[in-house]
Amino acid sequence: MSIRKGKNYPYGIHVKDNKQLTADAPIEKITAPETVYVCMSQHIGAPAIPCVNVGDKVKKGQMVGEASGAISANVFASVSGEVIAIEDIVNGLGQKAKYVVIKNDFADEEVFFDDICDFEPSSLVERIRLAGIVGLGGAGFPTAVKLSPKNQLDALIINGAECEPYLTCDYRLMLERTEDIYKGIKYTARALKINKIIFGIEANKPLAIKAFERFSDLDIVILKKQYPMGSEKHLIYCTTGRKVPLGKMPFDVGVCVQNVKTMIACYEAIELNKPLTSTVFTVSGMAVNEPKNILAPIGTPVVDIVKHCGGTLEELEKVVAGGPMMGKALINLNHYTRKTDSGFLCLKAEEISPLNPTNCINCGTCAKNCPMRLMPMYIESFALAGDFANAEKYGAMNCLECGSCAYNCPAKRALVQSISMAKNKIKEMKKNGK
Ligand code: SF4
Ligand code: SF4
Repeated sequence: MSIRKGKNYPYGIHVKDNKQLTADAPIEKITAPETVYVCMSQHIGAPAIPCVNVGDKVKKGQMVGEASGAISANVFASVSGEVIAIEDIVNGLGQKAKYVVIKNDFADEEVFFDDICDFEPSSLVERIRLAGIVGLGGAGFPTAVKLSPKNQLDALIINGAECEPYLTCDYRLMLERTEDIYKGIKYTARALKINKIIFGIEANKPLAIKAFERFSDLDIVILKKQYPMGSEKHLIYCTTGRKVPLGKMPFDVGVCVQNVKTMIACYEAIELNKPLTSTVFTVSGMAVNEPKNILAPIGTPVVDIVKHCGGTLEELEKVVAGGPMMGKALINLNHYTRKTDSGFLCLKAEEISPLNPTNCINCGTCAKNCPMRLMPMYIESFALAGDFANAEKYGAMNCLECGSCAYNCPAKRALVQSISMAKNKIKEMKKNGK
């Protein structure tokens, strides 16, 4: 076992983390809802294709959506019951996707995979693919694809940073499911044929650091509390000193980064023969009565989750899916949990930065705070002028949408929204060959 301090990354910001609301709240299993809405697009890549019909009886763990391409992921029933609809739904983020709607029969009948035939790397990757596991840190990239790099890697890096304010679900998992995370890490390292395992944990989680100290084959790296430490490129730099060049991926510098939650899913798929049917996330904010960490079936309505947390206060201003820095505000509560959820925040007005933008005063604070060394003020102005060629030239596609630029902007510019819009336009233009 080795414990060392991570390298210093000079850029990034310090944000009030508000983690005390739920840091000591053990994960609670929610009562399964009457109906689950299982989305076919819970990952990066092609949506899964429903493989059940309305009227079918399904068991928990039964596949209801089949991956439809190389970058896609299987989707499973999270309760037993009857398929009552397969329909397009616009969720609380305004995204339209196909859902398999299952009425829970509360029989809790469950199906499992057969025991894995062997523990060869290819069998482990295949099981992870079959189980529909995707990056549960939020990215949603199919894990089996990440575990099949073209080049041999030399290090697996586990992301235990959880740098987003309010969120404590990874922290609780590190305390409550230490052994399962460790087993998942070992299987993942085996799948990648890697011996070197680095575990990056932010310094504000001493109990989590202590929990993993007993594993002699982990190289534990204590990371400075800094936002966005959990971003792949920064984590890689702070744990290994390697720099991922712009436009390149972690495998280009010989590493694979995995989140702690994904490691539990890998362990469950390989050792317990379970596909991914539930997710753990934080419900927090000053406008929810009982902030908690929750384990819920995938597809649980957000209204049921809020009810489980004692409901909201009258002063509720906004519900955000994810953390306050990278999360997205819900336009309504017609929203259902997905594999990648990390939190739902019920916020009062005082927890939200008011968006009354004034003119940019060219103070340079946004550029100083950008961990990607971009010039957000210029990208924003190109985006607003519809000059997407220049927005791209100024590095819009390298933006992490981390929100560090907007956090301290004295003019309250909606920098991330503008850059995100530019990114979507650039992608669209490229798709159309422009
Ligand atoms: S921080 Fe805000 S005001 Fe300052 S340069 Fe950036 S966009 Fe302009
Ligand atoms: S420009 Fe993008 S990467 Fe840079 S601080 Fe803003 S959101 Fe983060």
